Amino acid sequence: MKTYQATDRRYDTMTYRRCGNSGLLLPALSLGLWHNFGSVDAFENYSQIAFSAFDNGITHFDLANNYGPLPGSAEENFGRILKKGLATYRDELILSTKAGHDMWPGPYGSWGSRKHLMASIDQSLKRMGVEYVDIFYSHRPDPDTPMEETMQVLSDIVKQGKALYIGLSKYNEEQTQTALRLLKQCGTPCLIHQDRYSLFDRGVENGLLDTIGTNRIGMIAFSPLAQGLLTDRYLNGIPADSRAAKSTGFLKQEQVTPEKISQVRQLNKIARQRGQSLAEMAIAWLLKDHRVTSVIIGASSVTQLKNNLKTLQSPGFTAEELEAIDRITGG
Ligand code: NDP
Repeated sequence: MKTYQATDRRYDTMTYRRCGNSGLLLPALSLGLWHNFGSVDAFENYSQIAFSAFDNGITHFDLANNYGPLPGSAEENFGRILKKGLATYRDELILSTKAGHDMWPGPYGSWGSRKHLMASIDQSLKRMGVEYVDIFYSHRPDPDTPMEETMQVLSDIVKQGKALYIGLSKYNEEQTQTALRLLKQCGTPCLIHQDRYSLFDRGVENGLLDTIGTNRIGMIAFSPLAQGLLTDRYLNGIPADSRAAKSTGFLKQEQVTPEKISQVRQLNKIARQRGQSLAEMAIAWLLKDHRVTSVIIGASSVTQLKNNLKTLQSPGFTAEELEAIDRITGG
């Protein structure tokens, strides 16, 4: 494969949104490497997805220490993508990684201790072959480590120049409020909160999104397509190459229930009436809230990526459409 060279037109169509009250702009769509970039996947395919993303203005790539499978392989493979030419554009890229889920054996391979987070950021930098990441996240709150310790080490990682900004993932409203206060005290204000948010997963609407808005930090939504359910992927059964069919996927066949598919069919009908795919509508629905800075999509092909990018031309929603969507999803 030839060395990658980005197109000169990469900034023509993407929209960039300010991340809270920070200086950082993020693309409305970011690309996540949780699935499709592991050692079980094909370099030719996933490198094209990454290159195509950047060619379309997706400057933000979201990783974590444990993404794969095998754990660590998504970071290693992203390092290979950088070597194939993307690294030329390092100053145009926002790379994030995380630590806090199970990564290596023993008492230091997980959660939120100083020991785990310091070791993990060093491993991540090595795997990707970069000197720093732009955003480093605590991947989940640790019920047993004092939050003071976790926030202090996140701040120290920034002060050591290994990350530019700090993010929190899956902290609930109360934990977020405490973490924001502690990070401020450490002199490293939180940049962004990352949580699951989609038409099917509305948990952040119970207070967390308000806390994020009031504190003027960014919000980035993961699994915006409910891992593929909010697309036309499962309308006619479970395709053999889909996430639900793969043993390594986190979407399980049991989650593709007749009730879910009935909801998907009704949503799909509204999307078609709006002249777009269900995936486009599901992403546009998230981006209508100004508190949502960016939506991290996953894609197993360039075709899916390009379909999702069409969201940028999405029409707004009428009150009737929003009501109908809420009726279907129980939102
Ligand atoms: P999505 O909800 O966007 O699901 C992605 C999957 O949906 C794809 O792999 C593909 O499934 C399918 N898909 C995508 N676009 C289309 C399309 N246009 N038409 C049909 N099918 C489509 O996101 P993910 O669940 O992958 O999560 C995105 C990112 O969020 C992750 O990569 C990660 O960076 C982050 N994340 C963070 C977490 C955290 O704890 N902080 C947890 C989970 C995710 P298929 O493979 O079947 O083709």
